[in-house]
Amino acid sequence: MSKRFLDALHSGRVILMDGAMGTELIRRGLDTETESSADWNTCRPEDVRDVHRLYLEAGAHCLLTNTFLPPLGPDRPNTVDRAVELVSKLTDEQYFVMLDSGPTQLRVHERSMAVDAMLLETLDALSWLRLLSWTVNSPFFPPVVSFSYRLVGRGLYCGGDESTPETVAEFVHRNRSCFLALGVNCGRDMDMDAVIDVVRRYRKVTDLPILARPNAGTPIQIGDRWVYPHSPKSMAAKLPALIEAGATLIGGCCGTTPAHIAAFREVIDKMGVGWKP
Ligand SMILES: [Zn+2]
Repeated sequence: MSKRFLDALHSGRVILMDGAMGTELIRRGLDTETESSADWNTCRPEDVRDVHRLYLEAGAHCLLTNTFLPPLGPDRPNTVDRAVELVSKLTDEQYFVMLDSGPTQLRVHERSMAVDAMLLETLDALSWLRLLSWTVNSPFFPPVVSFSYRLVGRGLYCGGDESTPETVAEFVHRNRSCFLALGVNCGRDMDMDAVIDVVRRYRKVTDLPILARPNAGTPIQIGDRWVYPHSPKSMAAKLPALIEAGATLIGGCCGTTPAHIAAFREVIDKMGVGWKP
């Protein structure tokens, strides 16, 4: 983890991250039946680089590597290095790069590489954190951890073990030396209001920095396409409430696009709360 990132994280300023990579690659032809988005780091690098570039142009200061899913293709051993290279070539010292990991490939990221921090995201159960002990000797320890919730009636729960935002925040806060920040991303039937609710509930329990990467709603099938219902404008309208709730590392999950991040940038600049390199 870089000291520069740590300083930015504790500055209290809002660091704008990128939006979704996977759904952007699907729009460019990624076939999730036969390939993983990570395969594109080696077979379609120009598309991955282009998505990163569009997020930078939209005003993001922190990019995630395209490593959420494990690769399925034959280039498996090189894909993480390749993913880091694709981002690093576009960014200089005014940006941050986080190594992204979904819950299914934690071990891929034990390797040392030129990134500022590691994000373990879309964790759907508190029990994932018990697998983290191996990372103590990793250069990315402590990681940022981010959980996915689903809305059931009026309650918010983690899918795997019925943890609530409070039980997650209590665990992370109790073990705070093991975590850089606590987050919420994606999730079923989650909208901006639900994400804001999670952030408020985290903040009541912990003073750790909070990450929020809301998705653009739950996709609706129209013909053979899946459409994410929440527009850049509608999500950006709720951004002040998300920031007031306590989130300072902010980006977008599934269905968000460079247009969403550009709309977030505008709100952050208007509020004058953004981190500046
Ligand atoms: Zn997502």
